[in-house]
Amino acid sequence: MSVFSSIGCLLNQHEPLRRDVTWDGRTYVGHCRHCNAPIERHGRRNWRKRSVASHGNHDAPTPI
Ligand SMILES: [Zn+2]
Repeated sequence: MSVFSSIGCLLNQHEPLRRDVTWDGRTYVGHCRHCNAPIERHGRRNWRKRSVASHGNHDAPTPI
């Protein structure tokens, strides 16, 4: 699979494989049809590369 399969991928604007899209309880996630990267939906026709740490404690509130 080519790294340069889509110019959009270079701009972090991916397109999902529709049959691959699933709801993970927070947002729609899937894989890019061009570069096969894990992606998540940020809005209509707005898919960005998924952060591996998105479910981690990156944005976790500080415990009191
Ligand atoms: Zn892509």
